[in-house]
Amino acid sequence: MRWTLPTTQVPEAWFNVVPQLPEPLQPPLHPATREPIGPQDLAPLFPMALIGQEVSAAPWIDIPGPVLDVLRLWRPTPLVRARRLEQALDTPARIYFKDESVSPAGSHKPNTAVPQAFYNHAEGVMRLATETGAGQWGSALAFACALFGLQCKVYMVRASYQQKPYRRVMMETWGGEVVPSPVDQPDHPGSLGTAISDAVRDAATRDDTHYALGSVLNHVLLHQTVIGLEAREQLQLAGEERPDLIVGCCGGGSNLGGLALPFVPDPKVELLAAEPSSCPTLTEGRFDYDFGDTAGMTPLLAMYSLGHDFIPPSIHAGGLRYHGDAPIISLLVRSGRMRAVAHPQTAVFEAAVQFARTQGTIPAPETAHAIRATIDAAVQAREAGRERVILFGYSGHGLLDLQAYDDFLAGRLAGT
Ligand SMILES: *Cc1c(COP(=O)(O)O)cnc(C)c1O
Repeated sequence: MRWTLPTTQVPEAWFNVVPQLPEPLQPPLHPATREPIGPQDLAPLFPMALIGQEVSAAPWIDIPGPVLDVLRLWRPTPLVRARRLEQALDTPARIYFKDESVSPAGSHKPNTAVPQAFYNHAEGVMRLATETGAGQWGSALAFACALFGLQCKVYMVRASYQQKPYRRVMMETWGGEVVPSPVDQPDHPGSLGTAISDAVRDAATRDDTHYALGSVLNHVLLHQTVIGLEAREQLQLAGEERPDLIVGCCGGGSNLGGLALPFVPDPKVELLAAEPSSCPTLTEGRFDYDFGDTAGMTPLLAMYSLGHDFIPPSIHAGGLRYHGDAPIISLLVRSGRMRAVAHPQTAVFEAAVQFARTQGTIPAPETAHAIRATIDAAVQAREAGRERVILFGYSGHGLLDLQAYDDFLAGRLAGT
């Protein structure tokens, strides 16, 4: 019921989907001139190696040895068959999940935090600045910076800084410095938009500092493809030719992309994005150029967006509260290669609790969106009397999100 690989089988190259996409990606535009941006526009924020990966058309990109050495602290991650969930649903579907919750930070995010810290360190950068909402990305980056000897400054959305101290403690344990954002308005609860502005300003005004982003960009999705590459090997070990359906929760698109992109060239594999109905970027957003942040400082990206000034309600799945989506994921949805569904948060927590009461582990609220969509697909398979192989991404554990479970169990959770 559980397939593991030896540490020697961490993939040694990332899979680049760009040459296999159904249409070419549209380039990012400069926020002022609306002309395509060049490497020099990004150089104050990112190391050249990552800028190169952002625009690369090479089918595979080698993973540097020091990055592999760190990934091997927890990779390859297990592939697990959710047999008890299948039995509870009485479904002929076979449900597998790829368990990214076993990383030190408890999610898939270290898969990109580690190479980002490595490439910055290799180009002589001493310090990284970033934003974090609930703290999952900030903790992944603080961990990665500790391993490469970089300083890490995290601008944390003030409301989370005050209400969710344990992620902050993780970041500080790894040596990160955490401050509430917005830094100049102590009474403002903050948002991802204000925190991005604080982090970008920090990086742009200091010579020793770069900026790091935990999702959305092409190089982030590239780094996450270790998930899907390992899963493909493990499914073979489990005796499956291929998954019929891949499901992932989608905030900026990195865990979904990491699992799904290696399967894009196989038209027999269906791809499904699960998002919250209160932040329905792919299902109700508009495909157009938009800013990545609220203040309009970042380049314009061609993506599905709810508008860069959209403020989503404060649902518990903080990692899914983003107005836009990765350009790669957006293109796959627009071209019809990937589908998207949206679920209200009570339905999502019902799925999370059903999973916990059958399989045991308590998923992150973000992950529970993928579980909701998986359960729905397994029930449809039962109704159609159809055997199907469903693979979903278990992007993180929920052990630091127990307040959300408490709210759900006590009936205090808003329905949407
Ligand atoms: C950040 C996060 C997400 C959402 O980000 P993506 O880039 O869409 O993957 C999902 N699940 C977990 C556990 C996260 O920490």
